[in-house]
Amino acid sequence: MPEIEAFNIATFCNFASMSDFNIHTLGCGSAKPTPRHQPSCTVLNHRGNLMMIDCGEGAQQAFMKQRLKFNRLNHIFLTHLHGDHVLGLPGMLSTMALGNEGGSITVHTFEEGADILTKILDFFARERSYQLDFNIIKPEDALILETKSLSVRTVKLHHRVPTVGYIFEEKPKPRHIIRDMIDFHKVPFSYINRLRAGEDYIAPDGRIIPNHILTSEADRSLSYAHISDTIYMPELASRIGPVDLLMHETTYLEEHAKEAKARFHSTAKQAASVARDAGAARLLTGHYSSRYRDDSAFLKEAAEIFPNTVLNREGLVTTV
Ligand SMILES: [Zn+2]
Repeated sequence: MPEIEAFNIATFCNFASMSDFNIHTLGCGSAKPTPRHQPSCTVLNHRGNLMMIDCGEGAQQAFMKQRLKFNRLNHIFLTHLHGDHVLGLPGMLSTMALGNEGGSITVHTFEEGADILTKILDFFARERSYQLDFNIIKPEDALILETKSLSVRTVKLHHRVPTVGYIFEEKPKPRHIIRDMIDFHKVPFSYINRLRAGEDYIAPDGRIIPNHILTSEADRSLSYAHISDTIYMPELASRIGPVDLLMHETTYLEEHAKEAKARFHSTAKQAASVARDAGAARLLTGHYSSRYRDDSAFLKEAAEIFPNTVLNREGLVTTV
């Protein structure tokens, strides 16, 4: 096999084993920032491509502290138009306008959000080196974005204003090439993509080499659901399904279940019930009310119902 082909196949084999899908928590407080918690902001890192979910005040500094790169950020998803989820966005997009990295940013939000942000940015950051687009979403369950490697769905939630959660799912992955068998059967490099897609190899002499001889099973596709903010909705579990990681808001502890209901938020136990009923693999807490001093109580209450709970905090990076 020529050297260049060998190199390319090796690159393919390495690429196939890569599977980095991480969730960076930039802010997991609620409406009132405290010295311990920032307002809502989460960054999804899928193979180095960044997507932000909500952008509370201070998000851009938190983004830099985690050494994330603005030129890798192409999508921002807003769950709803409350200040603690949006007010960091004008500042961050203005800062990005100072750079000259180009590229494009798409903000996924309701029509009202696009109108407000357009007005603010046309005033404060008219000169932009990047292209700014809006994808108008509705408060409903819908597929809103497909990239090469991910699909993104909205899930309608029930809060005091129109609100959606987001589910990010990896697309089916290509099968793994078995290097030795490729060499043995002298499969040309030009055939590799077809093998990874599941095709058999037909040799120049007409022999058919079945795909399962040349490749092994693809990795499982992973999924992340981001549910903030919402009143407890038992039926939500079936709409989320068995995701690998579920961030579900845990604004209140059980002693404040009444307030949770009145403010259209959830308790840690309610979030844990959704995780259990959805068949999620892990639950990530968050959106903590500023009234509490000790976050460990969120973990304790949630874990009684759903043991695979991870206590969220600023700076945490969770692998999906
Ligand atoms: Zn909120």
